[in-house]
Amino acid sequence: MTVGVLVPAAGLGVRLGPGAPKALRLLAGEPLLVHAVRGLREAAGIGPVVVAAPPGEAGEVGALLSPYDVVVVEGGPDRVDSVARALAALAPGVGLVLVHDAARCLTPPVVFACVVDALRAGAQAAVPVLPVPDTVKRVDGDRVLATLPRADLRAVQTPQGFRRDVLEQAHRVAGPRHTDDAGMVEALGITVITVPGHDEAFKVTGPLDLLLAEAVLRERR
Ligand code: C5P
Repeated sequence: MTVGVLVPAAGLGVRLGPGAPKALRLLAGEPLLVHAVRGLREAAGIGPVVVAAPPGEAGEVGALLSPYDVVVVEGGPDRVDSVARALAALAPGVGLVLVHDAARCLTPPVVFACVVDALRAGAQAAVPVLPVPDTVKRVDGDRVLATLPRADLRAVQTPQGFRRDVLEQAHRVAGPRHTDDAGMVEALGITVITVPGHDEAFKVTGPLDLLLAEAVLRERR
């Protein structure tokens, strides 16, 4: 089955501070989104790619990504909308879909391979995960309600992979509150499989992440 990738890249990046939308911020002289798309094109066996661009930026994003054979759509007000718009623009013959945050712009090809392998082995949905280093507590305001058993927790990354029919079903019924696509699939009662994530698949969220990303790139070069 052909593998397609949806790249939600329409976030404003408020936590990075004032400036361009996050996907267009520069990392080693190039926009984060260019690093992200180049990285996924280095993974084996990836077919059509659809990018959800920040509002009003679809033209510029199309020009930036012209060497990488992608379709560009305008993203929506939240992540779920952006993924849904990209999914609607995906070519009909694609049976397996990966959803990959532009903000995880240094994700190594091995992570894509692990997710695709799990789908090809029969999983309906697969996500890369890492152990959680911190102790995590549930709170209500400033009051601690509970300490969650750390051994049972995982931090979830992207690309998240799905059978196309499963992802489409999830998007037909999902509300906007979901922060990832696997959460929408879980809500349908469908089993999601975990595969090993990677330290370098971290999400660029705040200014410190940009410094880390620059350091990773320097090390790679
Ligand atoms: O906001 P968060 O960090 O969860 O964003 C994860 C990814 O979703 C980012 O790549 C961001 O550009 C994308 N996103 C989007 N449309 C939005 C909000 C976020 O495509 N409206």
